[in-house]
Amino acid sequence: MTNIDVNLISEGIKKAIDKISCEVEPSCAEAISQARDAEKNATTRFALDVMCKNIEYAKSAHLPVCQDTGMVVVFLRIGQDVNLTGGFLDDAINGTVREAFAPLRKSVLDPVSRVNTKDNTPAVIHTQIVKGDTVQAEIMLKGFGSENMSALYMLNPAQGLETAKDLIVDTVRKAASNPCPPVIIGVGLGGTFEKCAEMSKHALFRQIGSENPDPVLNSLEQELLDRINSLGIGAQGFGGATTALGVFIESYPTHISSLPVAVNVLCHCSRAAKFTVDKGGLRYE
Ligand code: SF4
Repeated sequence: MTNIDVNLISEGIKKAIDKISCEVEPSCAEAISQARDAEKNATTRFALDVMCKNIEYAKSAHLPVCQDTGMVVVFLRIGQDVNLTGGFLDDAINGTVREAFAPLRKSVLDPVSRVNTKDNTPAVIHTQIVKGDTVQAEIMLKGFGSENMSALYMLNPAQGLETAKDLIVDTVRKAASNPCPPVIIGVGLGGTFEKCAEMSKHALFRQIGSENPDPVLNSLEQELLDRINSLGIGAQGFGGATTALGVFIESYPTHISSLPVAVNVLCHCSRAAKFTVDKGGLRYE
């Protein structure tokens, strides 16, 4: 067994929050800059230019890149040969969120009373046991202008993949300018209700421009990206060529009587980081 101190994981999360609250994920920042250079609509080009300047300024001045500093979402892949030491994992993560959000907007509240927790806790923590002796962490600050535009459909299998594709595109069409496009679309296909939603969130960690290793899903991603960009919503809804920067799909076998489809919308402010903890310490990707 390899002993890994939960405080090393929480230290990694704290450093990640401090960085990504002020820095858009590099492949996303690059894709927005490329979209600006290629955009023919003058108003949209201006909007994309403002986004680029905002991204550059936030990074150089170390200021939050958006007023919505988001809810913390963490995915942890914990090796089966890891012995977690130093305390309870969830407490360590929420303790670090509390500290990291001291200078940031606190957006988390009780859904019934609407009373703010005042420290942006709790984080949403997904854990998976995998082979090996490392802990791989992925962390995202998720804004809710885009989260609110997300959707999940439990289709009858007779409705088929064509209906699923139409619904994915239609979800983006209905969202229009609300999620601060250009957006990134995470799609879950299959599994159960909750597995499907979780896959659509996890898909958002893919880098813009990366290919899906599954050729069928890769071609589906490209088809959906083309269809979404044909909607002409464009940056902040001003029209133009780029409504989405990427469509990323994760799939899982499902029941014979269903076709679950989840669409998780992410805005142009993609704030995500990955790191690994092993016996050698903490390593960012
Ligand atoms: S959708 Fe994104 S860019 Fe728009 S306000 Fe929310 S976090 Fe900020």
